[in-house]
Amino acid sequence: MKSTLLYEGKAKKVYFVEGDSEKLILSYKDDATAFNGKKKSVFPGKGKLNNEISAAIFEYLQDQGISSHFVQKLNETEQLVYQTEIIPLEVVVRNIAAGSITRRLPIEEKTVFPKPLVEFYYKSDIWDDPLINDDHACILTGLSLHELKEIKDNALKINDQLRKLFAGINLTLVDFKLEFGKRKNTIILADEISPDTCRLWDKDTMEPLDKDVFRKGTGNLLEVYQELLNRLEAIR
Ligand code: 5GP
Repeated sequence: MKSTLLYEGKAKKVYFVEGDSEKLILSYKDDATAFNGKKKSVFPGKGKLNNEISAAIFEYLQDQGISSHFVQKLNETEQLVYQTEIIPLEVVVRNIAAGSITRRLPIEEKTVFPKPLVEFYYKSDIWDDPLINDDHACILTGLSLHELKEIKDNALKINDQLRKLFAGINLTLVDFKLEFGKRKNTIILADEISPDTCRLWDKDTMEPLDKDVFRKGTGNLLEVYQELLNRLEAIR
């Protein structure tokens, strides 16, 4: 089914599908990177965990009426998705202050925001994914302000659904990053949602079940990703 390689990113490879120009295959790698690729490691089995976690989350979101590129999980490390024209934006939603916002602004870690914040970053390794405003985002992507508002509204809806999902497995959704793409002139959710792209804290211990254990070197990445998958599977 898989044909030639279209693109290789830091965490995934993307392949064309033989005889189906509408779809692509995402193949999750075992590589972990942080700080725009400055910290790197390989964790055998990480690709399988993220494929399973991301597939479970996209299936849940589809059940809640959120349309995305996700079609189905194919095997341990691969999933079938609709091809989209990726919009070069990283859309970050924050419920609680952590990570870059606490370095950029005088906001203490663990501050709970009165309402979720949505931020846009320009997705570009050479520019180091800079934080941008709505007007910059329109110029850099060619989207209208109306389309940008649609993305923001969608990101907030996804936040509501994900908070419910994670609360059900005793986790607080601190923040996460989404990417969107255009398919047949409609903007849909794309890429992945996994512990690589979210901050998730255990509600009792406040311990992270996400990539921060690798970024900060404070825990075993495979163990915490497996724990997250176990909790998701327990409520399926
Ligand atoms: P921060 O801006 O604090 O670094 O990240 C905010 C949230 O978005 C975190 O959950 C983080 O995992 C996610 N995020 C931001 N940028 C990226 C990125 O380039 N790659 C990935 N995988 N996640 C990102």
